Amino acid sequence: MSDSNDKLALVTGASRGIGKAIALELGRRDFIIAGTATTQAGAEGVSALLAEEGVAGRGYRADVGSSQSVEELMQALLDGPGAPAVLVNNAGITRDNLLLRMKEDEWNEVININLNSMFRLARACLKPMTRARWGRIINISSVVGSSGNPGQSNYCASKAGIEGFTRSLAREIGSRGITVNAVAPGFIKTDMTGALPENQAREMLKQIPLQRLGRAEEVAAVVRFLASDGGAYITGETVHVNGGMYLA
Ligand code: NAP
Repeated sequence: MSDSNDKLALVTGASRGIGKAIALELGRRDFIIAGTATTQAGAEGVSALLAEEGVAGRGYRADVGSSQSVEELMQALLDGPGAPAVLVNNAGITRDNLLLRMKEDEWNEVININLNSMFRLARACLKPMTRARWGRIINISSVVGSSGNPGQSNYCASKAGIEGFTRSLAREIGSRGITVNAVAPGFIKTDMTGALPENQAREMLKQIPLQRLGRAEEVAAVVRFLASDGGAYITGETVHVNGGMYLA
């Protein structure tokens, strides 16, 4: 089934985890994929993976924490496959620490890579989306942006910020046929959660009614729906994919 008419989907952080699953899922729905990684080797890995899976597109090196790198990425796209019709702001990091011990660098790095990146990438994609009068912006948030989590004040602030940004931009550009939504995963099995101490992981599992970690593919399926024609009347929303871990 095709949702895409061969539109270009830019997925940041497509080398691993949730971003990789999103790139493959959108690729299987005939979107052309531009998937980023922070290194050249990572970008080549994305290209190789897409080719292996029969998905059109390639990898690009980009640091979403740098305005210059994002500008270079956008130029490379405009010189190549064209402007993205779908933007998936997925790249993100954690630098966990209790606030009393948190260094200013740990705060700033998380806010810059997780939140300021939204501003950089969305702004860069808006003009061509406005011209096309069609666009989908999907920002990957986190359940802890709603629930909070001790030791993650920087990360939770960045994710709550993403959701406010999403609602505001949705109101701003709805009239141009562009939807803006957030997807907030719960506890998903990736390198990011693999880094959690075992006792913390065990405690988190106890809070999940579905009693298991989520799979990256289960987040990708929701992103694919929001990017598809079926998701056309949803904007400004945060869709939770968390096994019931947080119920508002
Ligand atoms: P992950 O496995 O750690 O992968 C992170 C991805 O982001 C990698 O592709 C990485 O590229 C890229 N990245 C890191 N820093 C970057 C930068 N400065 N510029 C561009 N790309 C950068 O993470 P994940 O678990 O898949 O998480 C993906 C998103 O989901 C994040 O926004 C995260 O906050 C969110 N999330 C995850 C979970 C979870 O349980 N895993 C839960 C809620 C929300 P390299 O490979 O080159 O390093």
